[in-house]
Amino acid sequence: MGNLTQNFSRNEFSCKCGCGLDSIDLGLVDMLQCSRTATALTYEITSGCRCLKYNKEVGGKPSSAHLRCKAVDIKCIGSRMRYIMVKDLITRFKRIEVKDSWIHVDIDLTLPQEVLFLI
Ligand SMILES: [Zn+2]
Repeated sequence: MGNLTQNFSRNEFSCKCGCGLDSIDLGLVDMLQCSRTATALTYEITSGCRCLKYNKEVGGKPSSAHLRCKAVDIKCIGSRMRYIMVKDLITRFKRIEVKDSWIHVDIDLTLPQEVLFLI
C-alpha cells in the first residue's frame, strides 16, 4: 500500500541524489495510479522529481518537467509491456517519450502538448 495512492508512496518520486526534493505533483500521481490499475502492471518509477544538480548529472534537458516535479520515467522492458503501457498512457497523457527501457510521461503545460518523442 502506498501513502499517496493505493500503490504509490512519496519516496518513490523523490530526487535520486538524496537532496530530499519530493514535492511530486499529486495530480500526476493520481493519473499514474489510474493507469496502473487499468493495466494491472507494476509501475517502477526510475525518475521523478529532480533538483538542478541531479538533472544535469543524468543529462536531463534544461527545461525538463522533472525539475518542476511534473514528470516520471517508468521502467518498461519488452515489447509486450511497452504495448500495454503505451496503449493506456496515450489516453491519459499529452507528453510521452518512449525509450528502450523506460517511458517518460509528464503533465507540464509550459511545454509542447500532444507530442510523442522517440530519442
Ligand atoms: Zn536532488
